[in-house]
Amino acid sequence: MTTVEIEHHLMRIGGRGVDTDQRMPIVDPNDGSVVATVPRGGAEHVDAAVAAAKSTFESGVWSAVTPQERASVMRRIGAAAHAAADKLVELELVANGATVRQATGFHIGYALDHFNYFAELAETYSWQQAAPSSTSPALSESVVHREPIGVVGAIAPFNFPLLLTLWKVGPALAAGNSVVVKPDERTPLSMLEFARIAEDNGLPPGVLNIVTGTGSVAGARLAAHPDVGKIAFTGSTQVGREIMRLASDTIKQVTLELGGKGPSIVLDDADLNLAADGVLFGCFLYSGQVCVSGTRALVPTRLHDEFVRRLVERAKTIVVGSTRDWDTDMGPVIDAKQQERILDYIRSAEVGGATVELGGHRPEGGQFDRGFWVAPTILSNVRNDMPIAREEVFGPVLVVMSYDSDEEAVAIANDSDYGLSASIWSNDNERALSTAARIQSGNVWINNAHQINCQVPFGGYKQSGLGRELGPNALDSYTQVKTVQLDLNNDPGTKPFGILLSHAD
Ligand code: NAD
Repeated sequence: MTTVEIEHHLMRIGGRGVDTDQRMPIVDPNDGSVVATVPRGGAEHVDAAVAAAKSTFESGVWSAVTPQERASVMRRIGAAAHAAADKLVELELVANGATVRQATGFHIGYALDHFNYFAELAETYSWQQAAPSSTSPALSESVVHREPIGVVGAIAPFNFPLLLTLWKVGPALAAGNSVVVKPDERTPLSMLEFARIAEDNGLPPGVLNIVTGTGSVAGARLAAHPDVGKIAFTGSTQVGREIMRLASDTIKQVTLELGGKGPSIVLDDADLNLAADGVLFGCFLYSGQVCVSGTRALVPTRLHDEFVRRLVERAKTIVVGSTRDWDTDMGPVIDAKQQERILDYIRSAEVGGATVELGGHRPEGGQFDRGFWVAPTILSNVRNDMPIAREEVFGPVLVVMSYDSDEEAVAIANDSDYGLSASIWSNDNERALSTAARIQSGNVWINNAHQINCQVPFGGYKQSGLGRELGPNALDSYTQVKTVQLDLNNDPGTKPFGILLSHAD
């Protein structure tokens, strides 16, 4: 019998690999096997990483170089990461259950493109702006500067480990900050590799630090640390609330990208074939573990049965299987706990009156007897007040609800604590745009889904988040504003001091 060697990956603190006595297993969701281990970092490791980041920031080795120099180093890192893309894809595949097609194109492909976009922003961003000269209250010139914040903490979820971390690290570095990352404990490998590539390609030691550890210990310490000036978080709404609370003691800047319960609104003039495929793509990509998944399909009552029939017919063609196989469309879910949680939601929905049109169970036999699988599931007869329509299931589960007017569709879509994404399917652009205007959501896609474009802002309404990532203003959230005013007249008679010093000579 051959023994598979399990690689141990170290944290990156101050440019060095750092280990601890305790290890955390990295598990392949395909079969539940342990494929690697990482150190279980504690609060002391977060403290060491923040200290390294702080001293590097204060040294000016990154914060005080020109934006052009930072852009040039970031481009070199991007090129080296691109050359190592196969390895990054492999590290993502083994840990997070993305299929090889998704991991190549989306998880790693987008991540590296977006990192280069942030390098570009370093060069084009408006670092200082002259305000109009003023004669009142004094003759003066003012300049508004954008300066880095200092130490930025980034806390990332399991689903797009490199992409969503680089959405924070990219603009933070472009702006001259130093960063401490706390990846999700299940999926830290690609970011650890990226940090090593960054150090090998000109990023000074201590500018980018990665502490592997649990959320409740390492994550909580980072969110509360007094020397961290900003926390950028992507994850569940529940943990987002806790992050905000922890950050409030030291009034940190906070951006939050949280959960969603995206509606996919099929208007009655839609191309039903396009809409059916689009709704399935919106829901089942990466086993429904995407914050912008369209998990609630809203369909006109008169088209309901026909549309469900098409959805089921097309969903039956989704190939579930090993994530390494290029023919696989959908892989497993992240872990056993999440698998059980998803199946529980389906069981409760059935008890509440929902009809299982497809799936609803764990696939059986062969590879499915190990690992964490849930079959693509479509439920009809769902009401918007049922938990399966209100709560984020984060699995391959689509619920279909019917409506009788566009107003009712908009009302159901907006009747949610979340407001991250929505899609609208229609052949009438005017009608689709006017429907989009009434949707309470940070992202609305017409006749498409999952359109993540780094050149436009991304974020949520309501309990889906706070602030925006991406877009030309992405660096705003990683800088602070300083206004410097130079008084141009030093004649004491022109100053307003007499308001206070009325008895002075
Ligand atoms: P999660 O909230 O469980 O964990 C996210 C991160 O927070 C992990 O690194 C975890 O270790 C850390 N964490 C947990 N408890 C913490 C604490 N008390 N203090 C500090 N950090 C803590 O989320 P998840 O299960 O990894 O990811 C799924 C969730 O993320 C879903 O809700 C999904 O919608 C959301 N998400 C949102 C976006 C977006 O852009 N809006 C993108 C992807 C995922």
